[in-house]
Order: sequence, then C-alpha cells, then structure tokens
Amino acid sequence: MSKKLRVGILGATGMVGQRFIQLLENHPQFEITALAASDRSQGKSFQEACTWRLAGEMPAFVKSMTVAAPEPPLDCELVFSSLPGEGGLARESEGAFARAGFPVISNSSAYRMEADVPLLIPEVNHEHLALLDVQRKTHGGKGFIVTNPNCSTIMLALALAPLHAKFGVQSVVATTMQALSGAGYPGVPSLAISDNVLPFIDGEEEKIEQETLKILGKLQGAEIEAAPMAVSAQCHRVNVSDGHMAAVRVKLDRAVGIEDVKNALSSFTALPQELQLHSAPKYPIIVREEPDRPQSRLDRDAANGMSVSVGRILPDNVLDYRFVALSHNTIRGAAGAAILNAELLIAIGILKQE
Ligand code: NAP
Repeated sequence: MSKKLRVGILGATGMVGQRFIQLLENHPQFEITALAASDRSQGKSFQEACTWRLAGEMPAFVKSMTVAAPEPPLDCELVFSSLPGEGGLARESEGAFARAGFPVISNSSAYRMEADVPLLIPEVNHEHLALLDVQRKTHGGKGFIVTNPNCSTIMLALALAPLHAKFGVQSVVATTMQALSGAGYPGVPSLAISDNVLPFIDGEEEKIEQETLKILGKLQGAEIEAAPMAVSAQCHRVNVSDGHMAAVRVKLDRAVGIEDVKNALSSFTALPQELQLHSAPKYPIIVREEPDRPQSRLDRDAANGMSVSVGRILPDNVLDYRFVALSHNTIRGAAGAAILNAELLIAIGILKQE
C-alpha cells in the first residue's frame, strides 16, 4: 500500500475549502497536513478559525490543526488551492508555491487561461497535461500548476464534450441558474436574493465563454488551439443553496437524430472511468428522461456530486437541440474536480506516492 500524499489546503476555511476537507477525510491517496487562510484565521486552531457550514460535524482530525498563511513552505507535498481568484491573491500565492517546487492543483480562476497551464477535466482533455512540459521548460523546478474550470463551465464542457467529439458543436447558447454557495460565504445578502433572481454574476459569462473553448480545444504542439465554436452565456444567481443549472441550446455540425444525442451523452465514459479513479463517477453524464428533471435539490448529489445530470433533451426550433444540465457547484464544480485532477496525476505518474 503506497503512502498517502500529504496535502495542504489554501483557503481552507471557505465554502470550497470545507468541501476539500470533507471529501479528503477518508481519501485513500491524500491526507491533509496543512491548512491556510487569511490573516483573520492565521495562528488559530482550525476549530477557532472556521465556522463549519456543511451538513454534519467538522471532521475531528482538522479541529486542532493550526491555520497558516498561504505562503510556501507548508508541511505538505502538494497544495489544493481555493483562494479567491480576484484581487491577485491566488495568482501570487499559487505562483509562489509552484516556484517553490510544490504541485498546485487550483480551483481559482487566476491561472486558468494561461497558455502553459492545463485547464483540466480528466474525462475531456487529459492530453492537455502535455502543457506541464512547457511549464517545466519555462519555469524549471518540480513545481507546476494544474487548474479546474469555473463551476458552471465544467458542467457545460462535460455535457458538450461527447457531442463535440461525435458530431461537432458549432454554437452553444447557455443560460445558467447558479446556487448561492457559488458566491462563497456569506455571499449574496439575503435581502438581495429573497423573492428575486439576480441577472449578474461578475466575470462569470466571460469565464464560461472563454474556458469552454480552451477545454474543448486541441493540443497542437505546445499550445491549445481553441475549439472552433461560438459560445454565448448569460448567468443568473437564484435562491438555491447548492447546484448550478444551465439551460443549453446547441447547433451541431451535421444532422443527427435525438436518440444519437441521448446515447452520446449517456454512454460517455473516459480515462477516469477506465482507470477507476477513486472520485470518478461510473457515468460522468446521467441522462434523465422524466419531463421535470434535472432539479437542483433532487439531482445535485448524483454520484456523490460528481455526475452532471442532463434532461429535457429536445429538438430546438432555433438551434438543433436543447437540454438542461445540472451539477454540484462545490463538488464537481470545485473541490471534487480538483481532487479528481490530482487522482489522475497520480494514476499517470505525474504525482508520485512514495
Ligand atoms: P469563500 O467561502 O469566500 O472562501 C475564501 C477562502 O479564502 C477562505 O478560506 C478565506 O480565509 C481565504 N482568504 C480570503 N482572503 C484571503 C487573504 N487575503 N489571504 C489568505 N486567504 C484568504 O470562497 P469559496 O466559495 O470557497 O471560493 C474559493 C475559490 O474557489 C474562489 O477562487 C472561487 O472563485 C472558486 N470557486 C468557488 C466555487 C463555489 O461554488 N463556491 C466553485 C468553483 C470555484 P478566511 O476565512 O480566513 O477569510
């Protein structure tokens, strides 16, 4: 039995940081040995610094750990980052860890669109990990950065991937309905969201439109060539605790029957399923046939929050097909995605368990 990799969580007290702790509590390949957060929390025990906001108790093993600053070195072999992407903090901290020789598996937006940084969904674009050779050549050292997509982008890109591979996707229009936990804690004021829908989430539409093209793009030599499709996104904050939903319309490169579309989605499996990675769902996409699914409350926890549920697959009068996708924003959309990335890096030998 290999030794577990010792990991640090940057932003450990936040919504995503807590999800990392919950998902890693009994993980067979990782053990948490360092926790970092802001100077509000540094020097305190995790129990003192963090109000636990997930269902169930704060795992006992983290309670007495001391919260550190998100600066290298930390007592660990790799870091998972859930630092705020805006304001330069994640960029500075993650860059410093990578330069200091730490693998950085990041969930923040800071490095996602850098030309030499993989924006990874293991089921979709594992070949983009070749960019790590470019990072090594440019920066030297053992450290590197791998990112996972924005929480709405990941479900859209996962749902589009089998359609794009089989039929070619020409254009996509996505309208999201995003959960409150996507804004971190305390997030949106209750008086702003009660009896209301907010049609603006800063930076989100741009992230979906840009990241999707990189994820579905092709590795050409040492670069990713963006996927040749048009993506249009409109994002809304809705009064749901967890689970992002997107109403999606797609235009395909060629005429395809609806059963072919459904089969492409429901039968989709890839490398993580083949390698039986610990967090990989059996089916990354679950197709629902009921007319009123997916629903946030009923479907966000599908396959422990790691599958995207897709329903309402229908021919569309304007583009070719439409459907509704839903996934758990802090699991498949954040901590679960980063952990699956790290599991893949172990399975293909980029990360080593001694
Ligand atoms: P959050 O609940 O606001 O947590 C932010 C974390 O960062 C906390 O641990 C906080 O520590 C720490 N932090 C804030 N300012 C800091 C500073 N100046 N120095 C050091 N640490 C600092 O946010 P979140 O929702 O977990 O999101 C974290 C990251 O994940 C963001 O980049 C976000 O875009 C991304 N993300 C979130 C979701 C989601 O669904 N929530 C999904 C995908 C990606 P203190 O407690 O000490 O303040």
